[in-house]
Amino acid sequence: MAFTFRTKARSTIHEFELIRALHRRHGRHTPSVIQGIGDDAAVITSQAGQWTVLTTDLLIEGVHFDLRTATMADIGFRAATANLSDVAAMGGTPQHLLVALAIPRTGTSRHVHQLYRGMMAACRPHHVGLIGGDTSASSDVWFLSVTLIGVVPSRKALFRSGARIGDLLYVTGTIGDSLAGLRLLSEPPPHAKRHSHASALSTRHRQFLIGRHLRPTARVAEGQWLSTHRFATSGIDISDGLSGDLRHICEGSHVGADLHLGALPLSPACRAYAASRKLDPVDLALTGGEDYELLFTVSPRQRPRLEQSALKQEFSLTCIGKIHPLRFGVQAMSPHGRRHRLANTSYTHFT
Ligand code: ADP
Ligand code: MG
Repeated sequence: MAFTFRTKARSTIHEFELIRALHRRHGRHTPSVIQGIGDDAAVITSQAGQWTVLTTDLLIEGVHFDLRTATMADIGFRAATANLSDVAAMGGTPQHLLVALAIPRTGTSRHVHQLYRGMMAACRPHHVGLIGGDTSASSDVWFLSVTLIGVVPSRKALFRSGARIGDLLYVTGTIGDSLAGLRLLSEPPPHAKRHSHASALSTRHRQFLIGRHLRPTARVAEGQWLSTHRFATSGIDISDGLSGDLRHICEGSHVGADLHLGALPLSPACRAYAASRKLDPVDLALTGGEDYELLFTVSPRQRPRLEQSALKQEFSLTCIGKIHPLRFGVQAMSPHGRRHRLANTSYTHFT
């Protein structure tokens, strides 16, 4: 149903005008779009030999984001990245975006355009175009639902269920940065505390970690590379935290795993943050979600080809463990060689 409302900010949002403006500013057509924004539904072409990949994410103000620590553009960027990363984790190529939005009375059309600017900034490098959505008024907070459509060559999709005993466990990039960035954003500003430990962290490290939280990178090229070369037997993106996402692979594949904590790829900034707060950076890496790196398994026979090819592509990968039989469970080995069962310490909304 159409809506018009006068926002607290005294601007009037008219649904159809807003949609027209979104179409004008953000609706770009790629060759596979037959009909984008402007009809009852979008129409896209499909190709023989390809599977369709679909993912959707619902974000609610106060639950998933906080407007005191992120701009509308940051929220849009992160929302799009979460979906791009889901397609990447399937080994797919993202193509089309649909966005459903509920706007509170405090919202203005400027907020909406900033949100879309952020989303499209994340999508542009991947040539993903906006093809539709839905718009509503909300009684109190912002709701944002992002749906992404992509493709993967038939039979090359990367599932959580393909890990085999003896496979090696790999991760892209560095992990723990996003949680460190979130914690920095949630702290009082550095000057507010007299004995601030913020001074122990350089501005460069601080900015890097906050950037990793607000503007994460979806590893789309890496996911495509893993699936097209059939390097990976299984894969997942790290959205809940390494310990939880590893568990998803183990449950999906009916296997156990041994994680080498000394091998976890930690950025210098994450290490510096942990040192300044007297924390163990490994805990940040295990529990921190939203790094959007890929966690995947590789047969040991593929190791030389994988690592050579990664070097050539300039992809950053680290081997962090090995797949074991189910009865082994999920264990972690400390840098000193001591083993313990890995607690599931990932973030969950329902505790
Ligand atoms: P309907 O009543 O058929 O759902 P709408 O008026 O909601 O039609 O939508 C008209 C067109 O605008 C459709 O193509 C729809 O996909 C698109 N659209 C609506 N809201 C948004 C939005 N927030 N972002 C992008 N496209 C939108
Ligand atoms: Mg509609």
